[in-house]
Amino acid sequence: MTTVHTGIRTLQNYVGGAFTQPSSDRSLEVINPATQEPLAMVPLSSAADLDAAVAAARDAFPAWRSKPVIQRAQWLFTLRERLTGHVDELARLVTTEMGKTIGDARAEVERMIEMVELATAVPTTMQGRNLENVATNVDAETIRQPVGVCAAIVPFNFPAMVPFWFLPFAIACGNTFVIKPSEQVPLTQNRVFELIDELDLPPGVVNLVNGDREVVDAILDHPGIDAVSFVGSAKVARHVYSRAAANGKRVQALGGAKNHMVVMPDAVVPKTVDGVISSAFGAAGQRCMAGSVVVTVGEAHDRLVPPLADAAHGLQVGDGLDESVAVGPVISCSARERIEGWIDKAAADGAEVIVDGRGADPGSAFVGPTILTNVSRDADILREEVFGPVLAIVRAETLDEAIEIVNSSSYGNGTSIFTESGAAVRRYRHDVEVGMVGVNIGVAAPVAFFPFSGWKDSFLGDLHAHGPDAVEFYTRKKTVTSRWFSDSAGGARLFGEH
Ligand code: NAD
Repeated sequence: MTTVHTGIRTLQNYVGGAFTQPSSDRSLEVINPATQEPLAMVPLSSAADLDAAVAAARDAFPAWRSKPVIQRAQWLFTLRERLTGHVDELARLVTTEMGKTIGDARAEVERMIEMVELATAVPTTMQGRNLENVATNVDAETIRQPVGVCAAIVPFNFPAMVPFWFLPFAIACGNTFVIKPSEQVPLTQNRVFELIDELDLPPGVVNLVNGDREVVDAILDHPGIDAVSFVGSAKVARHVYSRAAANGKRVQALGGAKNHMVVMPDAVVPKTVDGVISSAFGAAGQRCMAGSVVVTVGEAHDRLVPPLADAAHGLQVGDGLDESVAVGPVISCSARERIEGWIDKAAADGAEVIVDGRGADPGSAFVGPTILTNVSRDADILREEVFGPVLAIVRAETLDEAIEIVNSSSYGNGTSIFTESGAAVRRYRHDVEVGMVGVNIGVAAPVAFFPFSGWKDSFLGDLHAHGPDAVEFYTRKKTVTSRWFSDSAGGARLFGEH
């Protein structure tokens, strides 16, 4: 962290409909992980800066929640159009500040836009329920109303998409919103807010506060914030969940992961290799849905490992802006050191490093694809999240044993099974304690229309991100029970004419 300002620009917050200078004098350099060049300075806001954003959001709330729902949806249509016109620009920003390949970044921006598209359905999805004659001439109805001011705290690995798991749904439902981007990748959301600024959205409906843990804790404690969404590591998820809940807020906290891919003996090998490679090494292994352990069942091991190692050796590592590159850098030099430390430790614990991505220049953030075999069942690398392009392979004799390995993890975010056996799939789907399951799919991330979340240490809360859960999270139910004393002749009795 540094407070030294170089010649590069310093970002601002977006509060009450305008870009504003935070009062804090703390800031951090944003680095391009592929080139190690500084891109900008990001301010690390104080609790007072957060307070200004919450005040703007609270002021905007009464008028925004009272707007006809169709007008809120129409605003999302214009946002969608604006984002669609900037897909390439936003994708380049994602790659430049986060490192993933440009193809992956485009896919991310497209998934971000899908969230807006789904949120435009709010006139339908926000509908309540009613029932006539719950007692004689008594009717009951449940209506949905917004929760109030909602905040989201997001990680570095999806600078475009993850903030949009929340923003469009929150405001569609009539809430006002504060986003705290990752301080490691603030540029994409800064650009998104420049685009939002050009649209006709009332001031204070959406706000952006840059910062680190200081502003996170201020969000968790702020009495003016009603709901908090968090995505990031398991340890911080637990902190966010407990502190925000202790302060009476609605919370959903999506945490870290250790995802297993089970390969059965009848799996179609070339397709399985493709699926495993893209899952383990796409985005340099920095997806919460990245597969980091392959469990081979029986003879699947000997069929899978040689072509998998060949494919991993063939992946080009480099700057993600180069279209021919398959694996970009990890987020920072310190992340590279941490990941290489994990590989060293696994090797010291007895694993065989059959594909070795260590050894890049110490001043760089590149780690090549790495595959470990002969990993002992109690090795730390099978339990802890590495969050880099490192794949451990373990052997099981039966599907039962494979399921036992998967379920022994404290995490339960995503998992995949590769097989042509419907019976094995049914069994696996029924028994795994994991929130998202892929069948012959390496990265089983649900599309916008389905809820996204893990189980166990990968998730604290009950309502998942996007899909129908988004409207549940961003609305409060109010149930009205009514009866009327006039008869159907037009209310004459009410006016004493009988
Ligand atoms: P992180 O937990 O370090 O940071 C996430 C956010 O929390 C950031 O905005 C950061 O400013 C803030 N933060 C960090 N440390 C904090 C602290 N001590 N107190 C308060 N706030 C703090 O996560 P990251 O490194 O940015 O992202 C990678 C992690 O996110 C991985 O563990 C990955 O699995 C997880 N992730 C999970 C999902 C999911 O859907 N479950 C999705 C994406 C990423």
